[in-house]
Amino acid sequence: MMAVAQAPAATAVLSVRGLKIEFRTEGISFHAVDGVDLDIYPGETAGIVGESGCGKSVTALSILGLIPRPPGYVSADSMRFESEELLQLGVDELRKVRGAGISMIFQEPMTSLDPSFTVQSQMSEVLTAHRGLRGAAIEKESIAVLERLRMPNPRAILRQYPFELSGGMRQRVMIGLAMACSPRLLIADEPTTALDVTVQAQILALLKRIQRDTGTSVLLITHDLGVVAQNCDRVYVMYAGRVVESAPVTDLFKDPLHPYTRALLKAIPNTRGGDEELAVIPGEVPTPARFPAGCRFHPRCASRMDHCDKAIPRLVERKPGHSVACYLYGPETVTA
Ligand code: SF4
Repeated sequence: MMAVAQAPAATAVLSVRGLKIEFRTEGISFHAVDGVDLDIYPGETAGIVGESGCGKSVTALSILGLIPRPPGYVSADSMRFESEELLQLGVDELRKVRGAGISMIFQEPMTSLDPSFTVQSQMSEVLTAHRGLRGAAIEKESIAVLERLRMPNPRAILRQYPFELSGGMRQRVMIGLAMACSPRLLIADEPTTALDVTVQAQILALLKRIQRDTGTSVLLITHDLGVVAQNCDRVYVMYAGRVVESAPVTDLFKDPLHPYTRALLKAIPNTRGGDEELAVIPGEVPTPARFPAGCRFHPRCASRMDHCDKAIPRLVERKPGHSVACYLYGPETVTA
């Protein structure tokens, strides 16, 4: 048997081990994320893909310390960003990491942009707080940030309020604010889901170019395997609060191992213009309060065996860099 980890030679920018996120509310408690390991390497784009409710977005929020406690309780064996153990940082230290070290962009920019301040005001706040810029240097750098994003007429955009901009322009401003402090890790949570298809492609191309130009590592969170195929180097597939498969993207698409990944791939629309029917994964995504026992995918799995509902299969590396949590490939359980 090979080891569980699948690390390229470089040291990870972000390394998470045994992440658990528990929510306690109205007399019930449940784990939305239950034992996730992640590594993001310098200069790569890693994806987390899964259906709504699989735990991918709360995983991202937990890295930035943005899960409110209560009701959320985050624990991990380790959550290391460069040389810092994030779980040991106080509120002020974590705030410094946010923005300067790790930035995040969200699906809906209006959740982060303040509607009552101009783009310039919001840019000024970031550049003052994280880079110590003052006076004329702020406007000069604000213009430079928007120019790097290839936004037309940056001076005019700086004077505008978020509601005066289109959805695509707002997302560009959000990316500009996130990149203004040259973070080493950019977390993008469904950054294009709220946009129409043409603008989606432009924003993804922009993220790719920024990643290439700056060397920033990107963690891209999406429900869309097509987005993963075009933008990521490696991918973590999440289902019901756990990573069920991780691999380099080319390997995942060429040789998917987990039945859930295979089903997701069959559900991608045929972009070649054929009229084959899309496969639908039977059953429903379980809610975190009702994750099934054993392999959490077993109620929906066409390859299910008798013992699949007894214990959770462990994520094990079966090919170089390619790990899967499924009893089709071996008997290892999380408690073995
Ligand atoms: Fe299917 Fe069993 Fe593998 Fe789970 S462990 S994905 S139920 S074959």
